[in-house]
Amino acid sequence: MRRISIFGSTGSIGQSTVDLLLREGGPETFRTVALTGGRNVALLASQARALRAEIAVIADDSLLGALKEALAGTGIAAAAGRNAILEAAQRPCDWTMSAIVGAAGLVPGFLALSHGTTLALANKESLVTAGPLLLAEARAHGARILPVDSEHSAIFQALQGEEMEAVQSITITASGGAFRDWPIEKLAQATVEQASTHPNWAMGQRITIDSASMFNKALELIETHEFFGIDPDRIEVLVHPESLVHALVAFRDGGVIAHMGAPDMRHAIGYALNWPERRDLPVAPLDLARAGSLTFRVPDPQRYPALGLARDVMRIGGLAGAAFNAAKEAALDAFIEGRIRFTQMAEVVDDVLNRLSRDPALGKVPADLDMVLQMDAEARKVADDVIARQFGG
Ligand code: NAD
Ligand code: MG
Repeated sequence: MRRISIFGSTGSIGQSTVDLLLREGGPETFRTVALTGGRNVALLASQARALRAEIAVIADDSLLGALKEALAGTGIAAAAGRNAILEAAQRPCDWTMSAIVGAAGLVPGFLALSHGTTLALANKESLVTAGPLLLAEARAHGARILPVDSEHSAIFQALQGEEMEAVQSITITASGGAFRDWPIEKLAQATVEQASTHPNWAMGQRITIDSASMFNKALELIETHEFFGIDPDRIEVLVHPESLVHALVAFRDGGVIAHMGAPDMRHAIGYALNWPERRDLPVAPLDLARAGSLTFRVPDPQRYPALGLARDVMRIGGLAGAAFNAAKEAALDAFIEGRIRFTQMAEVVDDVLNRLSRDPALGKVPADLDMVLQMDAEARKVADDVIARQFGG
């Protein structure tokens, strides 16, 4: 039986993953090693029961008692805290879903690679902050990384049987997020609630707000560069409001392979689960006649300054991705907490990168994860300072 673990099982990607596993027979088909969640004890316990997991881990230390109580009599081990998550990541298994949100997902996925797992990588922050280290770790242990971000799964699928040398360019699409049709002057007034609704995809709150600001697409530009090893100037973004074409790979011979499908993450998760096979998945068939037309436009750099920042980050290289992601996470926290405006998130990240550009460490290629975590901590500190001093937040 295939041994599986899910990091972040209580989130949007995690729940879809559990749903697919249960549809494929659950504990009759898979041996579930570890499930982890942040704070939702009831959901984590019910998932652990349904999949008969060996261990369930809740990130919040104070919830250990509640988790133990919820799992009493099941024989499922309960643990809590950051170290328990890292310990769970070191339990050998064959397929691991990395679906914790943010930089917190980096180390668990990294540790899972050390026992040669196939890592289904939803946590794009891992590649943005530590791409070369992650790929080297996978190589060193004969582990495989399969992208789960829809655009990157799409690119990966379009590249099956192809050589990277034959690729001319890669285009990832963006829905344009919650405010794509808002007048640009109104963006400064956008509320957290308005930013937390997505026109096409159902996702966690943080990535939904990142879609409205295009910080999500900014991360995905860097993710494409890191994972597929393609030059930044050969990666494009197109706004595609229908969200039916997820990515396009253009080849040197003039052919272009586009990946299409309904906007449902269970496709990309299921593809990574069944790869290299394709199996039935509960995804609505694509109905192009109903869609009628597909539209594309170049993103407006004024509306979406995050994309320009991602280009700067790729130019600098080294630890700039870690700094960028950490500053973005701090700015997003500040926006959610009402300390800064929607449009100030990009200003904060820009200021942090400017301040850190004086630090010679920024462009250095990290030798190990500690260097990445140090830059992450440093950028959060600078971001908090910028938010307090420049924006009064
Ligand atoms: P989510 O917020 O719905 O879930 C995040 C999960 O991580 C939850 O289980 C939460 O409890 C856990 N978590 C949060 N903070 C934690 C911490 N500090 N330590 C341990 N666990 C913690 O997020 P999501 O939308 O499922 O996204 C998960 C990841 O997948 C993100 O990196 C996101 O960018 C990526 N992704 C998501 C989608 C999507 O459709 N939701 C699509 C593409 C990529
Ligand atoms: Mg995506």
